[in-house]
Amino acid sequence: MQRITILGATGSIGASTLDVLARHPEQYQVYALSAHTRVEELAAACRSCRPARAVVGTADAAARLALLIADLPTSVEYGEQALCDIASNADTDTVMAAIVGAAGLAPTLAAARAGKKVLLANKEALVMSGQLFMDAVREHNATLLPIDSEHNAIFQSLPAAFGRVPAAAGVAKILLTASGGPFLNRAVETLGDVTPDEACKHPNWVMGRKISVDSATMMNKGLEVIEAHWLFGAPADQIEVVIHPQSVIHSMVSYVDGSVLAQLGNPDMRTPIAHALAYPDRIASGVAQLDLTQMAALQFFPPDFTRFPCLALAFDALRAGGTAPALLNAANEVAVDAFLERRIGFRDIDRVIRHALDAVEHGPAPSIEAVLAQDARAREAAAHAVASLH
Ligand code: NDP
Ligand code: MG
Repeated sequence: MQRITILGATGSIGASTLDVLARHPEQYQVYALSAHTRVEELAAACRSCRPARAVVGTADAAARLALLIADLPTSVEYGEQALCDIASNADTDTVMAAIVGAAGLAPTLAAARAGKKVLLANKEALVMSGQLFMDAVREHNATLLPIDSEHNAIFQSLPAAFGRVPAAAGVAKILLTASGGPFLNRAVETLGDVTPDEACKHPNWVMGRKISVDSATMMNKGLEVIEAHWLFGAPADQIEVVIHPQSVIHSMVSYVDGSVLAQLGNPDMRTPIAHALAYPDRIASGVAQLDLTQMAALQFFPPDFTRFPCLALAFDALRAGGTAPALLNAANEVAVDAFLERRIGFRDIDRVIRHALDAVEHGPAPSIEAVLAQDARAREAAAHAVASLH
């Protein structure tokens, strides 16, 4: 029996994880679930998998949850310390890190420091803390498996040396595919007018609202370039973004002999989730087999950095190093929130980020405290930029 904690159980990844787990009750047992605000959804999940512990964001949410599940043996807690505890407790083996944004950093890091098997969906945590996070994984002998579909595909296409790019493996490039999101072909001059709902209508994937906006700006791909750098130890120049609107090939690795290895599948996050849960075995995920005879033509082309300035900003942040990716991530979170709340337009997102990156100088990242201090400064600068545009 593998005992599982799901951080962010009420989200899109959380729901897909619960779906895969429910197919294999003899192999997996849920130890703890977390949510932030969606108390009713968490109560329903507790009812179906009866975890020992459930954690929410506030005392008020905890009181509401406790009322809803008073008949269950589940203990109800709230706050960051409780999140870190369910991620690192001796009673759990595997942690699905599926909180969105910087809020996931502390519990995800706690899981790594406790030497857990960490299934990483929360890319922002790794983008912020890069070297520090990877050091914690190594130092505490944690197992880090990528859930992001592209990184899971790259992991599957690399030689078995545990997902890193070994110097002798003959890897020429990591080819990170990107759908291009809902605005791939929309006239650039009309992008200023798009609504949050239009930005969240992804052509191939159903996801939470923050990552959906990131996909529309292609900041998601930028964060994924940084994520690939840390996960696989590949320098920025070895990572190439390829637009592939059909999202059938989830990413590729090209080798010096001319071989290209790819992972294909229907666009459904239950595939990478099942892969990471069972690794190195395989389990059914509920995803239909890919029918290649039903595929329309698969297309590939290079990204347009003018249409998608956020992608260029992310490459710049990776090359700058230190706390630059943390600044980028923090400013992006503030800008996306402001866009979703209709306080700024879609084209203002990259402006706000640029302003924050100009206002706060990046530096070395010797500790998580230093990273969080920079994160706070970038949020302040971004909020200032939002206010001036509003
Ligand atoms: P959702 O918005 O659907 O879910 C986010 C989850 O995080 C919810 O359970 C939410 O709780 C919780 N949460 C939000 N804010 C906080 C907070 N401040 N403290 C603690 N918990 C919080 O997001 P997704 O599932 O789409 O994405 C989750 C992560 O996975 C992101 O980092 C995303 O980039 C990554 N990812 C997602 C993919 C996808 O297909 N969805 C694909 C690849 C990566 P509540 O809802 O109860 O408030
Ligand atoms: Mg992805």
